[in-house]
Amino acid sequence: MLDNLQAQAPDALLALIKMHAEDPREDKIDLGVGVYRTNDGATPVFRSIKQAEQKLIDEQDSKSYLGPEGDTGFTAALMPYIFGEDATMGGRIEGMQTPGGTGAVRLAVALAQQAGVTRIHMGTPSWPNHAQILADVGMEVAPFNHATKDGNADLDAVLGAIRDAKPTDAVLLHGCCHNPTGVDYTEWDKIASALADAGVLPILDVAYHGLGQGLDEDIAGVRTVLTAVPEALIAYSCDKNFGLYRDRVGAFYMMAKEPNQLDAIVSNANSLARANWSMPPDHGGAAVRNVLHDDTLTGEWLDELTEMRERMRRVREWLAAADNEVPGLNLAALAEQNGLFAMLPLSKDQIAKLREDHGVYMAGSGRINVAGLHAGNTDKFIAALADVTQG
Ligand code: PMP
Repeated sequence: MLDNLQAQAPDALLALIKMHAEDPREDKIDLGVGVYRTNDGATPVFRSIKQAEQKLIDEQDSKSYLGPEGDTGFTAALMPYIFGEDATMGGRIEGMQTPGGTGAVRLAVALAQQAGVTRIHMGTPSWPNHAQILADVGMEVAPFNHATKDGNADLDAVLGAIRDAKPTDAVLLHGCCHNPTGVDYTEWDKIASALADAGVLPILDVAYHGLGQGLDEDIAGVRTVLTAVPEALIAYSCDKNFGLYRDRVGAFYMMAKEPNQLDAIVSNANSLARANWSMPPDHGGAAVRNVLHDDTLTGEWLDELTEMRERMRRVREWLAAADNEVPGLNLAALAEQNGLFAMLPLSKDQIAKLREDHGVYMAGSGRINVAGLHAGNTDKFIAALADVTQG
């Protein structure tokens, strides 16, 4: 039976990691994998998380099962950061823990399907796993153009998609720090009223909260939508903004039209979670809860997040300042964009030349992780870009 299986294409980014690891050049630059890096190229455990984990080791007295909803203290503690002061929107929001933001996206799509959604509108390019999850769940995709050539969000395209949506459609939007383009919507009020007018279900994916302009600034668009629409699904990841990648920490929130509808919605999400992973891994979520339940640790986490955000903004400024040195790549737009990623309009040949001649590793799509750059390698990267784009 198993010999019926055809080999799948290897994950392109994993192949890139391997190539980078095998490259002996000391000044090689890794802009491939989507993790934050410090000025020294490290992806350390947050200081706040280390202390929260220590507290967990000292105080946790059981590892007995929780339930499909995971650590409810964790999901509740995050809510004011996501939804603001009225964190349940009048008793209409409830959350559950998921294995990473990926688990939350999966649950959002599966729950939407269970509720009768048959098609999801999605801006492209997007995080490649969005398409994989939609295909795996058996959901039809209606793509629209996410960004214009000059590095702005294609507002007309998203408004057009929402206007054309059928009542059984949903619209999947990145809340902030769009992966892979870094291009975020600025006119969320227009998107929010279009969603409300169309009566279409929004699925909001928030994987980089706090890594763009600030915690409140980054979530303002999501809040604008939630104030305008009757119901929504929100997928949230703590893997970037708490540096917990491999611990798989995510949350899934459901906003119902009426508080009395919430139990039925949550029970469906619980049964889907049960069938998928039974319950989420506990450790990372419990560490986040410990951070958010302790004012000192919360302060430390906020400082760490600010440090990361400001470093990435500095790298963006350096690249934008080199706009004249590398014409045609629209580097100036990077200063306006947010988060870990940007897309450079490079050809496959130019991307290969960057790798072969200069030891610069980036995704075949032209996506770069701006956190892979720092004071010690940005000039080299700009010179390499100038080299491959000349002539
Ligand atoms: N959504 C988007 C847009 C992402 O970029 C990612 C992670 N790269 C996720 C969701 C999932 O994140 P996690 O690693 O927490 O599963």
